[in-house]
Amino acid sequence: MLLPVLPGIGRIVAQNPGIMTYHGTNTYLVEGADGLSVIDPGPPSEQHVADILAAAGDTKIVRIVLTHSHFDHMGAAPRLREATGAPVHAFHQSGLAGYTPDIALHDDTAFAGLTAVHTPGHAADHLCFQFLLPDATKILFSGDHVMSWSSSIVSPPDGDMLAYYRSLRRVMARDDVYYLPGHGPKLPHPQELAAELLAHRQKREEAIIAAFHKQEWNVAALAFTLYDKADPALKFAATRNVLAHVLKLKAENIVTELEPDRALHPDIARLPARPPGPLPPGVTQQTIDDSRDDTRRRFALRAA
Ligand SMILES: [Zn+2]
Repeated sequence: MLLPVLPGIGRIVAQNPGIMTYHGTNTYLVEGADGLSVIDPGPPSEQHVADILAAAGDTKIVRIVLTHSHFDHMGAAPRLREATGAPVHAFHQSGLAGYTPDIALHDDTAFAGLTAVHTPGHAADHLCFQFLLPDATKILFSGDHVMSWSSSIVSPPDGDMLAYYRSLRRVMARDDVYYLPGHGPKLPHPQELAAELLAHRQKREEAIIAAFHKQEWNVAALAFTLYDKADPALKFAATRNVLAHVLKLKAENIVTELEPDRALHPDIARLPARPPGPLPPGVTQQTIDDSRDDTRRRFALRAA
């Protein structure tokens, strides 16, 4: 079902609700002079591709545009490309190993009324897209960089907290009237929201530094002390965010890395060694093993 968002823009919510995707990934259909641009074709689901084609109706889909290469945003790209012949536009260096988009975008590339804004942090290849409505109202398709329902996961090495701070400041300095995020509804007053997200991270970072003033920590123990999450997937996501914060502090010479712990934290050891079902594109067993290993990494405050 195509939900009207703004003049010339509709969205379809993919049927992939979850703790990482809210009600589901947003696929946007943007009307242009030559046809429709589809921003984020969504997860690899036949049903979702059929919904996009049905929503487009007689209007031709002329391009597929990706905010980043996470599978809940780009999984349907190959299938939609096959069905429409529309070329895929994405950042020139894909986060998905071996993937090359048809049209390689850079920071500030302009096409079909959209302008790419490189916003690494959640993903190294993340782009937001500026768009002007017919009345010249400036909006930004914000992907997973800025959403309202939750702060984005920043998972190293593709995710980078230092870059995320920079990218938040970059969009805060812009004068967009609305953001259209990758999950959830249209966001008014988006600079205030971006500022809140940055403040939230800074508060988290202060708590991490305060914890390091007391003792050294491995990533898992620090995450479980700071985040009160019962759900195992959220628990694991917390370790990724904490690692991202600590690696930022390491890059800033505030903490130093020690020898990792030999054993996994008991709460991590209890989690299944891999999620059930097939792994999403771009995720390998190696990625999962590395992420578990990362939870043993140990850091301490650098002596003043
Ligand atoms: Zn994402």
